[in-house]
Amino acid sequence: MVKQQTLSKKLQIIGIGVHTGEKIKLTLHPAAIDQGIVFCRTDLANPVMIPAITENVGDTTLSTALTKDDVRISTIEHLMAALAGLRIDNVYIEVDAQEIPIMDGSSAVFVAKILAAGIEEQNTAKKVIKIKKKIEVSENDKTAVLEPFDGMKFTFTIDYDHPVFHKYPNTVTIDLAKASFSEEISKARTFGFVKEVDYLRSKNLAFGASLENTIAIDNNKIINEDGLRYQDEFVKHKILDALGDLYLLGHNIVGSFTGYKSGHSLNDKLVKKLLATQDVWELITL
Ligand SMILES: [Zn+2]
Repeated sequence: MVKQQTLSKKLQIIGIGVHTGEKIKLTLHPAAIDQGIVFCRTDLANPVMIPAITENVGDTTLSTALTKDDVRISTIEHLMAALAGLRIDNVYIEVDAQEIPIMDGSSAVFVAKILAAGIEEQNTAKKVIKIKKKIEVSENDKTAVLEPFDGMKFTFTIDYDHPVFHKYPNTVTIDLAKASFSEEISKARTFGFVKEVDYLRSKNLAFGASLENTIAIDNNKIINEDGLRYQDEFVKHKILDALGDLYLLGHNIVGSFTGYKSGHSLNDKLVKKLLATQDVWELITL
């Protein structure tokens, strides 16, 4: 029997918010069986808990955000990807700001901290969502698909009309039931275009964005001195985002995801359509 997992002990992470630029403290606590992933805003006079499930996704512009009334927790996707990739079922996450810290723009710090704290098996079977039939969502030329597959396979294709993207692989396929999430995917950083920074800041966004947490791309090159961590780092980051977004199903999947130019919004539509379509999936134990 594959068992549910939580953390062996609590851990703390301090970083800055990519949008506010402010210092943020995150505390991850072990949680009981069947609790799932639950966030809590601790900076409010009355702390607000928001379970990380698709019903609570309130915004998918630039990042995936959970909302409850007027309370918001943004940029959850890289932490959710770390939890999905490490198969952590139950964790209680306190955060003292409206966004999850960006760290280095990938899931690497979250993964390292979780592995250092330790992962503990719990004495109950893990539940996973088995995809039984193909299901697809699209928006203009973007698509996101889930299909039956005996594993946890992610395929993604990006298609930017930009010289930098023509130099690197634009497609990658990886089966996370076989490959190491920590080694192959977790270190892939977010990327952005230098020319968009002024616009984002005019909208009160991206004040924390820097070369410390973003692969910055100008008209024809990558600005970061050390270059890329993987040759296919751009498209691997899109897989990391999709893995985090799909974890809002509340469970890991047994199946295959294929994304073409998909992002947080379309990933969210796929999750919602899947859960609303009864005969294409079932909750099973392994
Ligand atoms: Zn991302």
